[in-house]
Amino acid sequence: MATNIWWIRRDVRLFDNPALHAALAKGEAIIPVFIWDEALLASSYMCARRTAFLAEGLRLLDEALRQRGSQLLVLHGRPLPLLRQLLAETGATAVYAQRDVSPYSKKRDKQIAAELPLILTDGVAIRPTDAVYKDDGKPYTVFTPYKKRWLSLVLPRTADLLPIPERIPTPKLSQSSSLPSSNLASPLFPAGEAAGRARLHAFADGDGLRHYAALRNNMDVDGTASLSPYLRLGMVSAREAAVLALQAIGRAKGQEERDGPETWLSELIWREFYLQILDQFPHVRGGSFRPEYDQIAWRNDPDEFAAWCAGQTGYPIVDAAMRQLNETGWMHNRARMVVASFLVKDLLIDWRWGERYFMQQLLDGDPANNNGGWQWTTGTGTDAAPYFRIFNPASQAQKFAPDGRYTRRWVPELAAVPAKYLAEPWTMPLLVQHGVQCVIGRDYPAPLVDRAVTREQTLAAYKAVSSK
Ligand SMILES: Cc1cc2nc3c(=O)[nH]c(=O)nc-3n(C[C@H](O)[C@H](O)[C@H](O)COP(=O)(O)OP(=O)(O)OC[C@H]3O[C@@H](n4cnc5c(N)ncnc54)[C@H](O)[C@@H]3O)c2cc1C
Repeated sequence: MATNIWWIRRDVRLFDNPALHAALAKGEAIIPVFIWDEALLASSYMCARRTAFLAEGLRLLDEALRQRGSQLLVLHGRPLPLLRQLLAETGATAVYAQRDVSPYSKKRDKQIAAELPLILTDGVAIRPTDAVYKDDGKPYTVFTPYKKRWLSLVLPRTADLLPIPERIPTPKLSQSSSLPSSNLASPLFPAGEAAGRARLHAFADGDGLRHYAALRNNMDVDGTASLSPYLRLGMVSAREAAVLALQAIGRAKGQEERDGPETWLSELIWREFYLQILDQFPHVRGGSFRPEYDQIAWRNDPDEFAAWCAGQTGYPIVDAAMRQLNETGWMHNRARMVVASFLVKDLLIDWRWGERYFMQQLLDGDPANNNGGWQWTTGTGTDAAPYFRIFNPASQAQKFAPDGRYTRRWVPELAAVPAKYLAEPWTMPLLVQHGVQCVIGRDYPAPLVDRAVTREQTLAAYKAVSSK
């Protein structure tokens, strides 16, 4: 009886899983295996919270596998020798896995495929990351034409979604390593495929998707799907998300009802775009998409970086967002843009410092999306914001967190500050500061930098290297 190995990496799910299906279709039994890759665990991008989320997702996957006659084998070490040994011990024919796009995973898979029968399938993105090209055969580097082409190709349908196999025959396995247990579980993001799919369907079938276009930028409300950690680790299929968005577009009676699902689909296509950028332009992993920006003379003040990380900059919306990140492992997209702009353009700190810190904290920390988001904000990337666009934290707060709930929730020192001073508390008269027990410099930090001064420094530093 032919047996295959299903090597799980960032596809921790049974529904719509091309690698699992290919492994089952080509054999009568499979061995589902997850390897804690010691190189990844030692990486400076490692995040204990994300690892705990993954471990819990794997534990639940193991439960789901056991209900289908299978079980998860967990190994620890270097993938090549472990897979070599597993193939030899079990007599399995081939290893099936989902293709990934990070330079590390591509190099690792190339080395393994040179020696072992490794068969890679799609599934990390909705379309294969090398499926969308310009007429001249080159990859897109600007989002809007990429999206236009993406939408012009055959769109995914319900019939494309691969069902959960009813039975997954698996031979008796030798002792598996145990999954690390941890107390880092996030109450906001219960791990696992069932929780992720329930969230996806609640969002798509309820009011969330309908109101998405109107609410998604507002940091004060829960206006987005909060699905990114599940998409990151494949606890939800990106293709299923796209199918649900397309169904909602099809059902809509008029443009107003289409706005929500169309905008959401567009965000899913941003994810596709950044996956293909990392796949096609791997140099972005360590440097600017446009290499001239690697020459910027950053100020890189370590104390200012520490204040940014800790949410102690004296700029309330920046501090609220960074404290939300530190406490929960998640941050609203608008807030990500604001804090990233502040780090790079107000503190003149190398975007790669921020990129790394985000990877160390974010439950959804993703090499493609995170890199894309940082390079976009910094203005060094593909479809970048122009370098002279510098977000003003106060006006961002007034526009996108207008009722102040977000700031007060995450920066309790400011809870009693009157609304008109909340975005710029240093403008509060001293008497008011004492009245609300929030003396600037004592109870809450004074602004870390004078933005009028740093703005000029930043523009000069960018101008010195920019050809625009
Ligand atoms: C500096 C910076 C860093 C970022 N780092 C990451 C990261 O590490 N991992 C990550 O998944 N996203 C990252 N993003 C993108 C975005 O902030 C998150 O995907 C989004 O906030 C997730 O929330 P949600 O699931 O509610 O998204 P929704 O708004 O409901 O969108 C649905 C899905 O679309 C995708 N998506 C949404 N916005 C974007 C975007 N701007 N770019 C690419 N994909 C998007 C995500 O997969 C998201 O889950 C970053 C953005 C910036 C500006």
